[in-house]
Amino acid sequence: MQAYAGKVTAGKIIVAGNTAKTTRRVARAQKTVQVRGSARSVRFEAVAARGARAAGAGNRAIALNGEEAPGMGMTFKETGKWRENLDLAGWAAEMRAIEKEYKAPEHFEADVKHLKKILTWANLCYFGGLVAVAGMPMLGLNMPGWLNGMNPIAAFLMSTAICARWTMVGHHTCHGGYNAAQSTNGEVTGRFHRRKFARGLWRRCTDWMDWMLPEAWDVEHNHLHHYQLGEDADPDLVERNMKELREGNTPMFMRYAQVAGLALVWKWFYYAPNTLKELFARKEREAAKAGGEAKNPFRTGHLPSTVLTAVQDAASNGQFGALFETLKCFAPYALWSFAALPAIGFAIGGQQMALAFFLTSVLADVMTNIHSFIIIATNHVGDDIYRFETETKPRTDDFYLRAVIGSANFKTGGDANDFMHGWLNYQIEHHMFPDMSMRAYQNMQPRVKAVCEKYGVPYVQESVFTRLGQLVDVMVGKRTMLVWENGD
Ligand SMILES: [Zn+2]
Repeated sequence: MQAYAGKVTAGKIIVAGNTAKTTRRVARAQKTVQVRGSARSVRFEAVAARGARAAGAGNRAIALNGEEAPGMGMTFKETGKWRENLDLAGWAAEMRAIEKEYKAPEHFEADVKHLKKILTWANLCYFGGLVAVAGMPMLGLNMPGWLNGMNPIAAFLMSTAICARWTMVGHHTCHGGYNAAQSTNGEVTGRFHRRKFARGLWRRCTDWMDWMLPEAWDVEHNHLHHYQLGEDADPDLVERNMKELREGNTPMFMRYAQVAGLALVWKWFYYAPNTLKELFARKEREAAKAGGEAKNPFRTGHLPSTVLTAVQDAASNGQFGALFETLKCFAPYALWSFAALPAIGFAIGGQQMALAFFLTSVLADVMTNIHSFIIIATNHVGDDIYRFETETKPRTDDFYLRAVIGSANFKTGGDANDFMHGWLNYQIEHHMFPDMSMRAYQNMQPRVKAVCEKYGVPYVQESVFTRLGQLVDVMVGKRTMLVWENGD
């Protein structure tokens, strides 16, 4: 459905997908359109029962055949005034021209060189941290005794590196941001190609070792989150994921405490199991399509899977599948950080150094959880950010517009600033064009912003800490996001 119009006349909805979700979606779409379509009669016909929702963007879309005219028939609220006379096609054409410019082969070499620089910074942070744990006491630079050898400086360096490996190196490489530069005639020529990077256990350990399984991340993030941004099917839709807390009876101070607690553990508690759930769901759909069967051990449906839901399923229902898969996914990172590193510490300086490595590793993990929570969870939340009740097709004008009004940027510019923001300060540009290099985002951002200003498209860019306030308020139910279909 082309959500831009906000106007519905007689039409027919074509839905691809054969899951229960599809049925829910049609029901939801019917409800939505009945409301928006006011007194007009709307005829629906759900057609097609094949094609997995996540298998490809093209077959997921709900198309509405019928007359539509931008803005007609919809009463905009004060927040939606900018939509009244928007030249969407003109705006999108200018955006596509910018994309084309920065995707040109002349940038390839510099793009990869820049990526390697960022990776070097990450490596320096990580190994610098490890050296600091062992080396600082040798130089007489001891931390207070009650820390038992835990080194917050080293932990911060390691935390920054872990974050960088995920948000900058892993994230952009897995989106294919360097594919064109790392291949010739379809042949992969470099390590930073999405078909090679972090694939298999060895490469996972050397390229991007984290709580999450890179293949699961690919399904959850690159496909579901990016192509269903802000929709109910977006696994990262904070307002929906936090519904229970937002609408429950928990006292406000307890809600804040829960959000703070989540920030300390969210990568392994929420992200890893939930990405796995989406990977298994995809396998299940693909098997069904091929006439076979594959079981998804994560049984939380459209609600997020967490370590808690996996433990509950095991304890209450005797279903250990989700817990087993989660622990299997955790193993490489957990064994390295909390067993191998202390063992190395033991070899260097006995029991005391082993404890120092262990405690520093734990602190680094807590820190990197907080760091990534601040820069990631804030990307698409706030009372000035839109969510969507309808779907759209990738790379349409509407898709580009949603990327902008469904995302927030932070302070941009300068490698050091961007590094500490994990390049998530370019979320608007990244969601418009997910498969571009970090350097491209950095260079195109001022131009994207200027074009938005020219056409009157809201472009949210604020300090990451201001956005953190927005995130927390939405999570606890103090603020509510804009809804596109409501004329916001
Ligand atoms: Zn992304």
